[in-house]
Amino acid sequence: MSDAGAPWADLREWVAYLSECGVRDLRLARPPAVAAGAASRPAGPAASKQRASEATRPATDKAPASAGDAVKRLALIRDEIGECTRCKLHEQRNNIVFGVGHPDAGLMFVGEGPGAEEDARGEPFVGRAGKKLDEMIVAIGLRREDVYIANIVKCRPPGNRDPQPDEIGTCSPFLNAQIEAIRPSVIVTLGAPATRLLLQTRIGITKLRGTWHEFNGVPVMPTFHPAYLLRRYTVENRRAVWEDLQAARSRMDGTA
Ligand code: SF4
Repeated sequence: MSDAGAPWADLREWVAYLSECGVRDLRLARPPAVAAGAASRPAGPAASKQRASEATRPATDKAPASAGDAVKRLALIRDEIGECTRCKLHEQRNNIVFGVGHPDAGLMFVGEGPGAEEDARGEPFVGRAGKKLDEMIVAIGLRREDVYIANIVKCRPPGNRDPQPDEIGTCSPFLNAQIEAIRPSVIVTLGAPATRLLLQTRIGITKLRGTWHEFNGVPVMPTFHPAYLLRRYTVENRRAVWEDLQAARSRMDGTA
Protein backbone atom coordinates (compact mmCIF):
# COMPACT_ATOMS: atom_id res chain seq x y z
CA MET A 1 0.00 0.00 0.00
CA SER A 2 1.35 3.44 -0.93
CA ASP A 3 2.02 5.89 1.90
CA ALA A 4 2.31 8.88 -0.46
CA GLY A 5 -0.43 10.61 1.55
CA ALA A 6 1.40 10.17 4.88
CA PRO A 7 3.33 13.50 4.86
CA TRP A 8 0.08 15.37 4.16
CA ALA A 9 -1.70 13.44 6.90
CA ASP A 10 1.15 14.38 9.29
CA LEU A 11 0.93 18.01 8.19
CA ARG A 12 -2.86 18.07 8.68
CA GLU A 13 -2.45 16.57 12.18
CA TRP A 14 0.25 19.09 13.01
CA VAL A 15 -1.77 22.10 11.86
CA ALA A 16 -4.88 20.78 13.64
CA TYR A 17 -2.92 20.33 16.87
CA LEU A 18 -1.41 23.82 16.68
CA SER A 19 -4.83 25.26 15.99
CA GLU A 20 -6.20 23.44 19.07
CA CYS A 21 -3.36 24.99 21.08
CA GLY A 22 -4.54 28.41 20.03
CA VAL A 23 -1.66 28.97 17.58
CA ARG A 24 -3.19 30.98 14.74
CA ASP A 25 -0.22 32.78 13.18
CA LEU A 26 1.92 30.05 11.68
CA ARG A 27 5.01 31.02 9.69
CA LEU A 28 7.32 28.51 8.09
CA ALA A 29 10.99 29.18 8.62
CA ARG A 30 13.18 29.59 5.55
CA PRO A 31 15.33 26.43 5.24
CA PRO A 32 18.92 27.11 6.31
CA ALA A 33 21.60 27.32 3.63
CA VAL A 34 23.41 24.01 3.23
CA ALA A 35 26.91 24.37 4.62
CA ALA A 36 29.88 22.70 2.98
CA GLY A 37 30.14 19.11 4.17
CA ALA A 38 26.59 19.05 5.51
CA ALA A 39 25.57 16.45 2.94
CA SER A 40 27.70 13.85 4.69
CA ARG A 41 26.03 14.36 8.09
CA PRO A 42 23.53 11.82 9.34
CA ALA A 43 19.89 12.91 9.05
CA GLY A 44 16.87 12.44 11.31
CA PRO A 45 16.77 11.85 15.06
CA ALA A 46 20.30 10.49 15.21
CA ALA A 47 21.62 13.74 13.69
CA SER A 48 19.69 15.83 16.19
CA LYS A 49 21.00 13.66 18.98
CA GLN A 50 24.55 14.13 17.75
CA ARG A 51 24.15 17.92 17.55
CA ALA A 52 22.55 18.13 21.00
CA SER A 53 25.20 15.86 22.42
CA GLU A 54 27.95 18.06 21.01
CA ALA A 55 26.22 21.19 22.33
CA THR A 56 25.19 20.08 25.83
CA ARG A 57 27.23 17.10 27.02
CA PRO A 58 30.37 17.80 29.03
CA ALA A 59 33.59 16.70 27.33
CA THR A 60 34.17 14.12 30.07
CA ASP A 61 30.77 12.49 29.51
CA LYS A 62 30.84 9.16 27.76
CA ALA A 63 30.11 9.18 24.03
CA PRO A 64 26.56 8.16 23.15
CA ALA A 65 26.18 4.50 22.27
CA SER A 66 25.63 3.67 18.61
CA ALA A 67 22.20 2.49 17.42
CA GLY A 68 23.62 -1.03 17.05
CA ASP A 69 24.83 -1.03 20.66
CA ALA A 70 21.47 0.28 21.83
CA VAL A 71 19.60 -2.44 19.93
CA LYS A 72 21.74 -5.12 21.59
CA ARG A 73 21.45 -3.58 25.02
CA LEU A 74 17.69 -3.20 24.73
CA ALA A 75 17.42 -6.84 23.64
CA LEU A 76 19.46 -7.90 26.67
CA ILE A 77 17.20 -5.90 28.99
CA ARG A 78 14.13 -7.52 27.43
CA ASP A 79 15.73 -10.94 27.89
CA GLU A 80 16.48 -10.10 31.51
CA ILE A 81 12.81 -9.23 32.11
CA GLY A 82 11.73 -12.55 30.60
CA GLU A 83 8.27 -13.70 31.71
CA CYS A 84 8.69 -11.58 34.81
CA THR A 85 6.92 -12.39 38.08
CA ARG A 86 9.03 -10.09 40.25
CA CYS A 87 6.05 -8.01 41.43
CA LYS A 88 2.32 -8.54 41.87
CA LEU A 89 1.47 -6.75 38.61
CA HIS A 90 2.28 -9.93 36.71
CA GLU A 91 -0.86 -11.59 38.11
CA GLN A 92 -3.38 -9.84 35.86
CA ARG A 93 -1.32 -8.81 32.87
CA ASN A 94 -1.79 -10.14 29.38
CA ASN A 95 1.42 -8.76 27.91
CA ILE A 96 4.60 -7.19 29.18
CA VAL A 97 4.79 -3.72 27.62
CA PHE A 98 8.51 -3.17 27.22
CA GLY A 99 8.85 -0.02 25.11
CA VAL A 100 8.87 1.00 21.49
CA GLY A 101 10.69 3.32 19.15
CA HIS A 102 14.06 4.29 17.74
CA PRO A 103 16.96 2.73 19.69
CA ASP A 104 19.07 5.84 18.99
CA ALA A 105 16.27 8.32 19.74
CA GLY A 106 17.21 11.85 20.74
CA LEU A 107 13.88 12.20 22.54
CA MET A 108 12.45 9.68 24.98
CA PHE A 109 9.00 9.79 26.59
CA VAL A 110 8.41 8.13 29.95
CA GLY A 111 4.91 7.39 31.23
CA GLU A 112 3.70 5.52 34.29
CA GLY A 113 2.31 2.18 33.11
CA PRO A 114 0.27 0.41 30.44
CA GLY A 115 -3.51 0.73 30.22
CA ALA A 116 -6.00 -1.87 28.99
CA GLU A 117 -5.28 -1.41 25.29
CA GLU A 118 -1.53 -1.37 25.82
CA ASP A 119 -1.82 -4.55 27.92
CA ALA A 120 -3.81 -6.21 25.13
CA ARG A 121 -1.38 -5.21 22.38
CA GLY A 122 1.94 -5.23 24.24
CA GLU A 123 2.82 -1.71 23.09
CA PRO A 124 2.87 1.54 25.10
CA PHE A 125 0.55 4.47 24.35
CA VAL A 126 -1.72 2.92 21.73
CA GLY A 127 -5.13 3.90 23.17
CA ARG A 128 -6.80 7.32 23.13
CA ALA A 129 -3.96 8.84 25.14
CA GLY A 130 -1.52 7.23 22.73
CA LYS A 131 -3.23 8.84 19.76
CA LYS A 132 -2.95 12.19 21.52
CA LEU A 133 0.74 11.53 22.20
CA ASP A 134 1.24 10.71 18.51
CA GLU A 135 -0.36 14.06 17.61
CA MET A 136 1.93 15.82 20.07
CA ILE A 137 4.98 14.13 18.51
CA VAL A 138 3.90 15.11 14.99
CA ALA A 139 3.29 18.66 16.22
CA ILE A 140 7.01 19.04 16.97
CA GLY A 141 8.00 17.71 13.56
CA LEU A 142 8.80 14.11 14.54
CA ARG A 143 7.16 10.73 14.02
CA ARG A 144 6.41 8.07 16.59
CA GLU A 145 9.18 5.92 15.12
CA ASP A 146 11.74 8.72 15.68
CA VAL A 147 11.33 8.75 19.47
CA TYR A 148 11.40 6.08 22.18
CA ILE A 149 8.43 5.49 24.48
CA ALA A 150 8.51 3.50 27.71
CA ASN A 151 6.81 3.30 31.09
CA ILE A 152 7.97 3.01 34.69
CA VAL A 153 6.23 -0.36 35.10
CA LYS A 154 5.92 -2.84 32.28
CA CYS A 155 2.69 -4.54 33.39
CA ARG A 156 -0.74 -2.96 33.70
CA PRO A 157 -1.78 -1.77 37.17
CA PRO A 158 -5.35 -3.08 37.70
CA GLY A 159 -8.08 -0.54 37.04
CA ASN A 160 -5.49 1.87 35.63
CA ARG A 161 -4.45 2.90 39.14
CA ASP A 162 -1.04 4.50 39.67
CA PRO A 163 1.79 2.01 40.18
CA GLN A 164 2.54 1.44 43.88
CA PRO A 165 5.94 2.12 45.49
CA ASP A 166 6.91 -1.57 45.75
CA GLU A 167 6.00 -2.13 42.08
CA ILE A 168 7.95 0.96 41.00
CA GLY A 169 10.91 -0.08 43.13
CA THR A 170 10.96 -3.54 41.53
CA CYS A 171 10.40 -2.53 37.91
CA SER A 172 12.10 0.85 37.53
CA PRO A 173 15.65 -0.58 37.23
CA PHE A 174 14.54 -1.84 33.79
CA LEU A 175 13.53 1.70 32.80
CA ASN A 176 16.85 3.02 34.09
CA ALA A 177 18.64 0.42 31.97
CA GLN A 178 16.59 1.43 28.90
CA ILE A 179 17.55 5.08 29.42
CA GLU A 180 21.20 4.08 29.81
CA ALA A 181 21.05 2.00 26.61
CA ILE A 182 19.40 4.72 24.51
CA ARG A 183 21.16 7.72 26.10
CA PRO A 184 18.57 10.18 24.72
CA SER A 185 19.43 13.86 24.49
CA VAL A 186 16.18 14.74 26.26
CA ILE A 187 13.58 12.90 28.34
CA VAL A 188 9.98 14.12 28.57
CA THR A 189 8.17 12.70 31.59
CA LEU A 190 4.43 12.33 31.06
CA GLY A 191 2.49 12.98 34.26
CA ALA A 192 3.16 12.93 37.97
CA PRO A 193 4.36 9.34 38.69
CA ALA A 194 7.07 9.36 35.99
CA THR A 195 8.15 12.86 36.98
CA ARG A 196 8.25 11.98 40.69
CA LEU A 197 10.38 8.92 40.00
CA LEU A 198 12.96 10.46 37.70
CA LEU A 199 13.29 13.70 39.65
CA GLN A 200 12.94 12.06 43.08
CA THR A 201 10.56 14.75 44.23
CA ARG A 202 7.08 15.07 45.67
CA ILE A 203 6.42 18.46 44.05
CA GLY A 204 3.33 18.42 41.83
CA ILE A 205 3.49 18.22 38.04
CA THR A 206 1.74 21.59 37.65
CA LYS A 207 4.66 23.29 39.40
CA LEU A 208 7.38 21.22 37.69
CA ARG A 209 6.21 21.26 34.08
CA GLY A 210 7.81 23.77 31.79
CA THR A 211 11.10 23.77 33.72
CA TRP A 212 14.27 21.80 33.07
CA HIS A 213 15.56 19.12 35.40
CA GLU A 214 18.05 16.28 35.09
CA PHE A 215 18.22 12.51 35.40
CA ASN A 216 21.68 10.92 35.35
CA GLY A 217 23.00 13.78 33.21
CA VAL A 218 20.05 13.75 30.77
CA PRO A 219 17.87 16.90 30.64
CA VAL A 220 14.29 16.17 31.72
CA MET A 221 11.21 18.19 30.77
CA PRO A 222 8.09 17.19 32.74
CA THR A 223 4.72 17.73 31.12
CA PHE A 224 1.12 16.62 31.54
CA HIS A 225 0.16 13.05 30.70
CA PRO A 226 -1.89 12.91 27.46
CA ALA A 227 -4.69 11.14 29.41
CA TYR A 228 -4.87 14.14 31.76
CA LEU A 229 -4.86 16.43 28.75
CA LEU A 230 -7.85 14.55 27.32
CA ARG A 231 -9.70 14.85 30.65
CA ARG A 232 -8.93 18.58 31.00
CA TYR A 233 -8.88 19.64 27.39
CA THR A 234 -8.46 23.36 27.96
CA VAL A 235 -6.57 25.74 25.72
CA GLU A 236 -4.23 26.50 28.66
CA ASN A 237 -3.29 22.84 29.16
CA ARG A 238 -2.84 22.22 25.43
CA ARG A 239 -0.68 25.29 25.09
CA ALA A 240 1.38 24.26 28.14
CA VAL A 241 2.11 20.83 26.64
CA TRP A 242 2.89 22.40 23.27
CA GLU A 243 5.40 24.76 24.90
CA ASP A 244 7.02 21.92 26.88
CA LEU A 245 7.42 19.80 23.77
CA GLN A 246 8.76 22.68 21.72
CA ALA A 247 11.36 23.29 24.44
CA ALA A 248 12.26 19.59 24.38
CA ARG A 249 12.61 19.62 20.60
CA SER A 250 14.87 22.69 20.69
CA ARG A 251 17.02 21.14 23.40
CA MET A 252 17.24 17.92 21.40
CA ASP A 253 18.32 19.87 18.33
CA GLY A 254 20.90 21.80 20.35
CA THR A 255 19.24 25.11 19.46
CA ALA A 256 18.14 26.03 23.01
S1 SF4 B 1 5.71 -4.66 36.43
FE1 SF4 B 1 7.87 -5.03 36.02
S2 SF4 B 1 8.68 -6.06 37.86
FE2 SF4 B 1 6.43 -6.20 37.91
S3 SF4 B 1 5.97 -8.18 36.96
FE3 SF4 B 1 5.86 -6.61 35.33
S4 SF4 B 1 7.91 -6.58 34.40
FE4 SF4 B 1 8.08 -7.64 36.39
